[in-house]
Amino acid sequence: MNEPPRAIDAALFDPGTAASDDFYRHVNGGWLDANPVPSEYGAWGPPQIVHARNQDVLHQLLEDAAAWSDPRGSAGQMVGDYFAAAMDEQAIAAAGVAPLEPYLASIAAAESVADVRDIVHDLQRRGPAPLHSLGIAPDFEDSDAYLVYVGQGGLGLPERDYYTRDDEQSATLRGQYVAHVARQLGNLGETEERAQEAAGRILAFETRLAEASYTAAQMRDVQLTMNRFGVAELDELMPAFGLSGYVADLGVTSATVSVDNPGFFRALDATLAETPMETLRDYLRWHVIRPFASALSPAFELAAFDFYGHTLGGQKEMQPRWKRVLNAASADIGELVAQLYVDAAFSGEAKKRCEEMVDHLLSAMGRAIRDAGWMTDATRDEALRKLAGFHYKIGFPDEWRDYTGLVIDRGSYVENRMRCETFEFARQMSRLDEPVDKGEWAMPAHVVNAYYHPLLNEIVFPAGILQPPFFYADADDAVNYGAIGAVIGHEITHGFDDQGSHFDAHGQLRDWWTEEDRAEFTRRAEVLVDQFDAYEVLDGLQVNGRLTLGENIADLGGLKIAHDALLEALAAGEPSAPIDGLTPEERFFLSWATVWRTSYTDEYLHLIVKTDPHSPARARVNNPLSNLPAFAAAFGVPEGSPMAHGEETRARIW
Ligand SMILES: [Zn+2]
Repeated sequence: MNEPPRAIDAALFDPGTAASDDFYRHVNGGWLDANPVPSEYGAWGPPQIVHARNQDVLHQLLEDAAAWSDPRGSAGQMVGDYFAAAMDEQAIAAAGVAPLEPYLASIAAAESVADVRDIVHDLQRRGPAPLHSLGIAPDFEDSDAYLVYVGQGGLGLPERDYYTRDDEQSATLRGQYVAHVARQLGNLGETEERAQEAAGRILAFETRLAEASYTAAQMRDVQLTMNRFGVAELDELMPAFGLSGYVADLGVTSATVSVDNPGFFRALDATLAETPMETLRDYLRWHVIRPFASALSPAFELAAFDFYGHTLGGQKEMQPRWKRVLNAASADIGELVAQLYVDAAFSGEAKKRCEEMVDHLLSAMGRAIRDAGWMTDATRDEALRKLAGFHYKIGFPDEWRDYTGLVIDRGSYVENRMRCETFEFARQMSRLDEPVDKGEWAMPAHVVNAYYHPLLNEIVFPAGILQPPFFYADADDAVNYGAIGAVIGHEITHGFDDQGSHFDAHGQLRDWWTEEDRAEFTRRAEVLVDQFDAYEVLDGLQVNGRLTLGENIADLGGLKIAHDALLEALAAGEPSAPIDGLTPEERFFLSWATVWRTSYTDEYLHLIVKTDPHSPARARVNNPLSNLPAFAAAFGVPEGSPMAHGEETRARIW
């Protein structure tokens, strides 16, 4: 088990790199040199390290649950049987692809688009979800009611651009993808020749869907992607497929849904009509295997790792089986796993101290909004109203999710996984007519993450992240404000970033900005887009300033208000002496740089630059600092050096 680190450890600095040149390297050089990425990871830094620590806590609890026989339907029974079935490699190998046979048989018998529609309908409820996505969330025009969101999808590569870029590296990757699809079809019993040929046709089919898809950056545009349609009007998008009846058959009882990309569904209808049945059957077989490959026999699992884990994610070897199973359990029965974790590892003391910090951060955001001289009073009043409407959740849910009716047994791992998916889909659809459950959590409490939910106007901090180095129960305020304080500030700022600023205090998509204030906000945000576009991650690989804009606004604003909140906390307490010769302000910025230090494999960097709205670590740490005069003052950074933008080029939003 890895031990929590010392909050600020000068032994891990790089004395050869000046703070004013590259603060990230200055603070973390020693650590980065001593911590290459472990072979079973694509990236390695505090989020992964804390996640690994949480997994160690949970490992024994899962083993214990599997060893006991708790009453059927209890949390212990479900978690224990899930783990036992998933760890039984012999039974999984012996079963081969048998658990998926019924689905493969109906695909083999498909002769028309109507048959395809029936199969997709069935798979949508069981997890594989070929062709598109579908789920519920609060209505973007009435956050007390649920709305079904129908989305583009159906791709086996991570994002649209993987299909459409014509550089050499992308072409090579597509070749590797085709080889991977062929390998899985081979595992289903196809000859090598036919598998290779089918995989090529699958790529061509997915490429047509990709061409009609929005990019990852476009998918962040809430005004583009929230579009209300009457269920009865959906046939206008897919007349041949019959989207209206299909959606109603899935249990959508409401009169309207939101469609993220109407053009995608028009293109999908045409593509389905023009594609030979043989290709549609092969495509469906591939998409039955893809999501569950890691729960099947070793040939499927190894193939999936080789492409998704190794080629795309840069992992040199698979994680041990228990970790892979634990990650699957966190997705399938997250709140059952979370209960075990919280009982064993979360203290009320951490929750109390975080609540105090949230209060300080919210009041600092209020000052930032009042001080934003570029805003007119009308917009400012709305912004303050929105801030006053913020809700927060810390630690774990007041009420755990009810899994009554979900059957998990010691039989087939993949069947357990499918039943979890089916249960969750039915749970979502059954709540369509009910008021929104505002107590629900969007991620389990043991994960190392946090979020802002624009439709609920709430910030949420799971127990999993409330530990070193993000939060120390016994550290000085400066260290905690530079770490979890900046995370809290980051989530608050999301309410006022390029996405969140389109929603009001009640989570409704409403334009509460005057035209001139919106134009000025956009102008200020563009400064950040340009700054991040200029970051070279690897040779020829630049950060995507547009994709990462929301996170970059949140980092800059979050750090600024966390610093302000620290000054407020310091002023209210006893005068604080330097620790290890470092002032509170120095420790604040050092703490920020420490929590985001990360070693990456090149493959993983390529993947996140194309798909992750968060910037890679060095840019994430250095860029906000270079825009903050308080940082320059704390470390004596002269204007014009790499770590200090001048008055002319500095980004300032909140
Ligand atoms: Zn964020």
